[in-house]
Amino acid sequence: MRIIRQIAWAIVLVVALAACGGPIGESIDGAPQIVATTGLIADVAGQIAGDRVAIIALMQPGQDPHTYEPAPADVAKLQLADLVLANGIDYEESLMPVLEELEAGGEVRIVYVSEGVDVLPGAHHHEGDEDEHDHAAGDPHTWMDPNNVLIWVDNIAGALRDIDPQGAEAYQANADAYKAELADLDAFIAGQVDAISEADRKLVTDHDALGYFAHRYGFEAVGAVIPNVTTSAEPSAADLAELVTVMREQNVKAIFVSSTVSDEMSRQVAAEIGHPVQVLQLYYTLGTPGSGADTYLDMMRVNVETIVSGLGTGS
Ligand SMILES: [Zn+2]
Repeated sequence: MRIIRQIAWAIVLVVALAACGGPIGESIDGAPQIVATTGLIADVAGQIAGDRVAIIALMQPGQDPHTYEPAPADVAKLQLADLVLANGIDYEESLMPVLEELEAGGEVRIVYVSEGVDVLPGAHHHEGDEDEHDHAAGDPHTWMDPNNVLIWVDNIAGALRDIDPQGAEAYQANADAYKAELADLDAFIAGQVDAISEADRKLVTDHDALGYFAHRYGFEAVGAVIPNVTTSAEPSAADLAELVTVMREQNVKAIFVSSTVSDEMSRQVAAEIGHPVQVLQLYYTLGTPGSGADTYLDMMRVNVETIVSGLGTGS
């Protein structure tokens, strides 16, 4: 808790200094102000920024980016920023109109880190769905395949170069080193999932968040408690009945639930199946400090170990 409080104070201080330090977007020492919407993006950007420039995360660990509503103080942080790093693909749902307005007003530069990723449709997206939560934009959870994070790295390195050309060489060196770590992560995941038989490579999640993971590592996303790419949607009784049927027919052994949402509905579904079904927690965004999932690389390693424990031959 002390660390969290110190970080919170540091953020307040930075914002306060920036606010009284002359022109908008300029801090007292002239360092650029960079705000990432989520801790996950701040972590990846921080790996590339190194010690040249600090990256502030707007959302706190444990907040669900789909349902997060910006407070006035958060909007103020965005207004003071020289650069905002966001995921896009409608991931930061409530923030998108705010970001679009700031960008249209020429107040800040916004870089969407997933720009250029080959966006997948949601696993349970049906052509013609037209309710308010129809995410025609596609599945925003691009980072569940580390190969997509290679694209993030290029986008972030480019954005940092643009606002701090003198740091270009340092950013490139950091980007290259981090890309090597992403390649190691990809190999680690591929090796770990070898422990899961072809027949058991079926993913059921709280919402459709593992599409890119499934696509990369040979899994099928057979169902979700909320059959939508956002937690802000709600399942119908028919959706839940269909999920129970699919899980029985395909002998699915686990439901994976995001660390940012309640697992209550997933537990109710698991109890309906008739064969043992584990309800296990995954991280789709960074966990709190000390969770073991407080960096992107650690988060993905923890996730794959959980998936193997739920579906592997030993389970
Ligand atoms: Zn999600």
